[in-house]
Amino acid sequence: MSEYDFIIVGAGSAGCILASRLSECGRHSVLLLEAGGKDDSFWFRLPVGYVNHYYNPASNWMYYTEAEPNLGGRKLYAPRGKVVGGSGSINAMIYVRGQPADFDDWAAAGNPGWGYADVLPYFKKLERHPGGETRWRGGSGAIGLTPLKPHAHPICADYLAACDELGLPRSDDFNGERFEGAGLYETNIDGGVRASSSRAYLRPALSRPNLRLETHCRTQRVLFDDDKRACGVTVLQNGAERTFRARKEVILAAGAVDSPKLLQLSGIGDEVRLAGLDIPTVRHLPAVGRNLQDHLCVSFYYKSSRKTLNDELGNPLGQAWAALRYAVNRSGPLSLSVNQAGGFFRGGEAARQANLQLYFNPLSYTIPKNAKAKLKPEPYSGYLICVNPCRPTSRG
Ligand SMILES: Cc1cc2nc3c(=O)[nH]c(=O)nc-3n(C[C@H](O)[C@H](O)[C@H](O)COP(=O)(O)OP(=O)(O)OC[C@H]3O[C@@H](n4cnc5c(N)ncnc54)[C@H](O)[C@@H]3O)c2cc1C
Repeated sequence: MSEYDFIIVGAGSAGCILASRLSECGRHSVLLLEAGGKDDSFWFRLPVGYVNHYYNPASNWMYYTEAEPNLGGRKLYAPRGKVVGGSGSINAMIYVRGQPADFDDWAAAGNPGWGYADVLPYFKKLERHPGGETRWRGGSGAIGLTPLKPHAHPICADYLAACDELGLPRSDDFNGERFEGAGLYETNIDGGVRASSSRAYLRPALSRPNLRLETHCRTQRVLFDDDKRACGVTVLQNGAERTFRARKEVILAAGAVDSPKLLQLSGIGDEVRLAGLDIPTVRHLPAVGRNLQDHLCVSFYYKSSRKTLNDELGNPLGQAWAALRYAVNRSGPLSLSVNQAGGFFRGGEAARQANLQLYFNPLSYTIPKNAKAKLKPEPYSGYLICVNPCRPTSRG
């Protein structure tokens, strides 16, 4: 079949949920197109498996930025998932919705329906928190959560004590009443398995006759009818070009980098820029492809006087023990994220709300220079403190 009601480009975090919800009532046919392959391998299930995907071109677009003059001309690495589940199949699984003020700012900027009170019911609907339903949390959604409170490495307690010493506030639940402060993260890990939107939403829906998933299928452009309404896409799959038609909608869910790129390739963007690339303009929308806001992360490496996860995972015996614990009851460090503690803080007196995110990882690792290599624990006790702005002011 080459005609569907809805065509969704990108089977990532968003695309998998869209495909599941749009096909749920059974009245619409839905086609989901993914440039990458399936997320069948064990490494996508195993939470700590993301160390295998961080520099792996088989599941990662492995983008680099342009050389950045304000960073000494360096190009920075920007990983993005290229697999069913998208970046949600290779990410660190920290489950924080964002701060309520961010959503309220969107609403105040002229977007009714996007304030925190408006979106909270949907966040509650998607999650299954072990503490059950409360004013802030959902208890029966598709995405099972694991709070790291009972599982975090003991050295995380030292991090929290240090934050207390500095007089920093504490947050018991970043998705609860108080966002700001130091605390332990929650993760979208369900019974020791990564709870991506692919696993939680798409898989159970794939048996529906009205939903089709095509993998290794890269959308090249959106097609428009005479009224300039999106009516289909052309794709490249196994070296052959194919065309799919949409009776109702074409939905781009290819991520923050590839959705605007696809719009530009389809003739939607700044007409001067498009003309320079010999792309006929369908609609002059100069904002497309601009205004990217990213949270650059800086990592500080420390040697530790106490044992850290390096001591457990940095040698064959420790690795075997961790593997056994995971095999027997899906517990231990392999069942968790390495981003365990952290928090949200104000960087400076003038900040109206938290504008910095911190990560405390009870593990420090070397970054391989060659692609496809895994992140490796450093050969001594070590930990990482990473920081990024959560309200970045630079644009690209
Ligand atoms: C290494 C890493 C760690 C992260 N850690 C966290 C974390 O701990 N917590 C957190 O909340 N967020 C984290 N994130 C961010 C989070 O994963 C993303 O914000 C989220 O997954 C984005 O969802 P999306 O649906 O917009 O895009 P994606 O999930 O990236 O999905 C886009 C999909 O579109 C596909 N695609 C792209 N172009 C085409 C095309 N032309 N044709 C067909 N398919 C195409 C891609 O292959 C991909 O599968 C992390 C991201 C990365 C990369």
